[in-house]
Amino acid sequence: MQVATPGAFFIQLDVYTEPTQYLVKVHARRTRLSLEIKHQQILVKVPSNCPTDLIESFLRKQQHWIKRAISKSSSVTQFHRNYQSGEPIWFKGEAFTLDIHTQCHGSAVIVNEQDKTISVFLSAKVKHTARQTRKLLRAFYLEQAQLIIPDLLSACEQKVGLHSSSLDFKFYQWRWGCCYQSGKVMFNPLLMAAPIEKIECVIIHELCHLKHMDHSRSFWALNRRFCDQCHKTKQWLKAHHQEVYLPPV
Ligand SMILES: [Zn+2]
Repeated sequence: MQVATPGAFFIQLDVYTEPTQYLVKVHARRTRLSLEIKHQQILVKVPSNCPTDLIESFLRKQQHWIKRAISKSSSVTQFHRNYQSGEPIWFKGEAFTLDIHTQCHGSAVIVNEQDKTISVFLSAKVKHTARQTRKLLRAFYLEQAQLIIPDLLSACEQKVGLHSSSLDFKFYQWRWGCCYQSGKVMFNPLLMAAPIEKIECVIIHELCHLKHMDHSRSFWALNRRFCDQCHKTKQWLKAHHQEVYLPPV
C-alpha cells in the first residue's frame, strides 16, 4: 500500500481530456478526506497514512463536482491591483476610488468620505509610483487599525468576558487574526477594508481562542454564543480578497 505524501500529483479524470493536477496536504489530526478548490486548484486534505488509492478513488467519485467548482471559480472576474487611479480601494466595508497624484510636495493618504475617494499624494522624489503607493496604503491601513481596533477589542472583551494580554498588528496574505498561548492577539491591518461588524466578528473569534486554542466543537459553541457570523465574514473576506490584499510590486 502506497501512503500519501504532501505535494502536487496528477490524475486522469473522465471529465477532462488532459490529466489534472491536484495538491495533497497531510494533516496528522484529520480523520477524513476533504476536498476544496483554491485558486482553481484541487486541494485534498488527508489524514496521515492515507493510501494514495483512496485519494484517487475519492477524486474520481467527486469529479463532476470538481469540474463544476473549477469552472465556477474561473468565471469570477479576476482583479489585478496595479496601484493606479480608478481602482477600487476598500475602507470600512465601502469601495472607495483610488486617486493617485504624483509630483506633490510631500507624501500623504487622504480619505474623502463625500466623494468616496482615497487620494494618495506622492512626492516628486518618488521613482517607483506603484511601490510607494502600496507602502503608503499599508501605512494608512495600519494607522487606521491602531486607531480603531483597540476600542473594538475592549468592547468585544467585555462582551465575551475573555481578555487578551496584548495587541499587535501584522500584514498577512490569507490570515485576519491570530491568538497566542501568551494571550496576545494579532490582527491584519487590512481588516480595516472590511465592514466594522466583520472586524468585530474576527476579534470575537480570536478572543474565543483564548479559551480553546483549536477549532473544536467547544470552541465553536463558545464562538457562536457571542457571534454567529463567522461563515458570512469568511465569505466576505474571501470574495473581496483580490481587491483588499495589497500585493507586492
Ligand atoms: Zn480560529
